[in-house]
Amino acid sequence: MSGIRPTGLLHLGNYFGAIRNYVKMQEDFECYFMVADLHSLTTHPDTKELKANVHRVLAENIACGLDPDKAAFYCQSHIHETAELYLYLNMMAYKGELEKTATFKDKVRSHPDNVNAGLLTYPVLQTADIIIHRAKYVPVGKDQEQHLEMARNFANRFNHRYGEVFPEPSAFNYNQDLVKVPSLDGTGKMSKSENQMATLYLADDDELIRKKVMKAKTDSGPGANNSPKPDYIENVFLLMRLVSADDVIRKFEADYDNCSIRYGDLKKQLAEDMIQFIAPIRQKVNAILEDEKYLRQVMEQGAEKANRSAAATMQLVRDAIGLNYY
Ligand code: AMP
Repeated sequence: MSGIRPTGLLHLGNYFGAIRNYVKMQEDFECYFMVADLHSLTTHPDTKELKANVHRVLAENIACGLDPDKAAFYCQSHIHETAELYLYLNMMAYKGELEKTATFKDKVRSHPDNVNAGLLTYPVLQTADIIIHRAKYVPVGKDQEQHLEMARNFANRFNHRYGEVFPEPSAFNYNQDLVKVPSLDGTGKMSKSENQMATLYLADDDELIRKKVMKAKTDSGPGANNSPKPDYIENVFLLMRLVSADDVIRKFEADYDNCSIRYGDLKKQLAEDMIQFIAPIRQKVNAILEDEKYLRQVMEQGAEKANRSAAATMQLVRDAIGLNYY
């Protein structure tokens, strides 16, 4: 189970941190993937763009290979029982632990005029989304590690208080380390809303991709053979490892080690490899977005599957709590 907020264009971080695993997992597991439209209301209360943004996230996931016939692919707001589970879990979540969450502290800094209770209890709603399907594996990027630890705590607390209902959910990346795709300027991670010129979006056209990659931070090159790479150079290589062929990567690694590297050439190659990767996805997204009827069908089909699973879990939850006396 996993979700993505419809708060802007999806980027390479969303793809390599999350969607790539959705596409693999749908072959091996019973999967639930959702557009987290309710979570987006914590920071984006204005809903004028919501429908278009939801459509875009649906189309972008499908263009990346998510198959709505294999996985349940739905909107968070279509599963009303999640709100009920969220209510019960809120009574087991403590103010102190919620206030300590790194993402909450970040949001308080970036939205000081809208520090609402939904923002504080964001990890509780996220837990409800996950455990309402009694999910074990949650494909997410590294930025979600702390939230997953909280989800484990809340699920365990429920089990301890009311009896074993939920398996322990954990972040999942096929036994590999969780991924963080860095921004091109070497200062942070790619993101939907911040640092837009340093983030590569799946909607970027070829020229914009070239422009962004050519601006990636580099320097005049290593001073001695086999030097360690500064973080911003390591980031550029990390991006190359995501999209370039093995022999290309080996060549530039060797050039770096023997001090013959030309970062202009490396960035030109990286830009072309990024275009090869992003352009076909962008074209598919545009075609899917034209077919609103299909998108509605996807949402209905997904909601039906997800509601069936949620209803079964909620019966267990109400029985475990003891809300079954009439
Ligand atoms: P969000 O964009 O916050 O709705 O996150 C959707 C998914 O993308 C989550 O699983 C995140 O962990 C993942 N994600 C977002 N940004 C990055 C990034 N820069 N690197 C890796 N994963 C990311």
